[in-house]
Amino acid sequence: MATAKKVFNFGAGPAKLPREILLQAQRELLDYDNTGMSIMEMSHRSAKYTELNNRVQQDMRDLLKVPDNYKILFLQGGATGIFSAVPMNLMPSGGSADYIVTGSWSSKAAKEAAKYGKVNMVLPKMDAYNDIPNQSTWKLSPDASYVYYCANETIHGVEFRYIPDTKGVPLVCDMSSNFLSEEFDVSKFGVVFACAQKNVGTSGVTVVIIREDLIGKAQPIVPTILDFKINAQDNSVHNTPPMYPIYIMGLYLQWIKKQGGAAAMGQQAQQKSRRVYEVVNSSAGFYSLPVAEHCRSRMNVPFRIAGGDAALEKKFLEGAEKRGMQQLKGHRSVGGIRASLYNAITMDEVEALIKYMTDFQKEHAKK
Ligand SMILES: *Cc1c(COP(=O)(O)O)cnc(C)c1O
Repeated sequence: MATAKKVFNFGAGPAKLPREILLQAQRELLDYDNTGMSIMEMSHRSAKYTELNNRVQQDMRDLLKVPDNYKILFLQGGATGIFSAVPMNLMPSGGSADYIVTGSWSSKAAKEAAKYGKVNMVLPKMDAYNDIPNQSTWKLSPDASYVYYCANETIHGVEFRYIPDTKGVPLVCDMSSNFLSEEFDVSKFGVVFACAQKNVGTSGVTVVIIREDLIGKAQPIVPTILDFKINAQDNSVHNTPPMYPIYIMGLYLQWIKKQGGAAAMGQQAQQKSRRVYEVVNSSAGFYSLPVAEHCRSRMNVPFRIAGGDAALEKKFLEGAEKRGMQQLKGHRSVGGIRASLYNAITMDEVEALIKYMTDFQKEHAKK
C-alpha cells in the first residue's frame, strides 16, 4: 500500500476521520464480519445488518447515557433535512415555535420552520454573529411547541457553554458540529440531532435522539421518510438506510469508547482549543478573535490576522498549504481563518498549527 502524503485536515466538514477507522474499513471492505460480502451489498433486513444497527444505537446510548425514554433514529437528508422534520413533527398545523438564532445554521433552520408554522425570534436580529445575548434578555413564549437552538455555530465559531433554560418547553438542539465532543445531559432535551460528518463519521446519516412523548404529533403533510414516529416504529429501517455511513459511525463510536468516552473527548477539545486561543491572545494583536470570550467554540476557531489584512491572510493560507495544512480558510461569509478541531484532530496536529502561527507572526508582524 502506498503511503499517502501527510496532511493536516482542519476542515469544517466533512472532516478528518481517525486513521484507525479508515484502515479498519479498508480491511473489512470486501468481507464484512466473515460474510464474504461488503456491508454495502447486504440486505438491510439481514441478521448482520440488524445486529450492526442495534449495536451502533447501543454504543451511542452507552456513550451519552441516553435515558430509556428516548429513541435514537438514523435518518437521511442531512442536518438540513431535520430543519424541516423538526417543525413538521413537533409543531401542530398553525402552531408556533421559538428560535434562538445565533448564526447561519440556526437562521436557516428558522427560515425552514416558517414554512410550517409561526416562528418567534427569541433574540433581536444581530448584525454579526459573534455573541450570545444573556438569557435574562430572551423573549420566550410559554405557548411555543418547542425552543430551538444550535449548540455550536460552525461558521461563526459561537458555542453555547450551557443548556438554555426553557421553563418546561421542549428544547430542540442542532449539535451537528459539537456532538459527542463532551458529555451532556440528554434528559434536558426534547430532541438532539447531528449530522455525522463533523465529529462522528461521514455524511449520509443524521442522528436524532428524541424523547418518546414527543413522537406521534406530526402534521399530516410530513413526508414518510422524515416522520419520527414511522422511523422510530421501524427502528430506522422503514426504507433502505445509509448503511455504509452508519457502519463508519459505528467504528467512530467504538474509537471514542477506546479514547475514554465523551468525557475524554471533552478534555481533549478543551485542551486543543485552549492552545490555539492562547497563541492568539499572546500575539499582541497580530491575531484577533471576533467572538465574545464566553461563547468561543471549542470546535471551530475563527481568527483574523492583522485586523483582517486580506493579503496577509492569503499568505498565511498559502504557507499553511506548503506545510500540508488544509482547509483553514474561513467561511466565505465571514472571511479570515478558521481552524476546526473536531474529535479526530490530535494534539500533535494542533501543536503543528500553533508552531506555524508563531513562525508566521515572527516573520510578518510589524517590528
Ligand atoms: C454542517 C452543519 C449543518 C448542515 O449539515 P448537512 O448534513 O450538510 O445538512 C447544520 N448545522 C450545523 C451546526 C452544521 O455544522
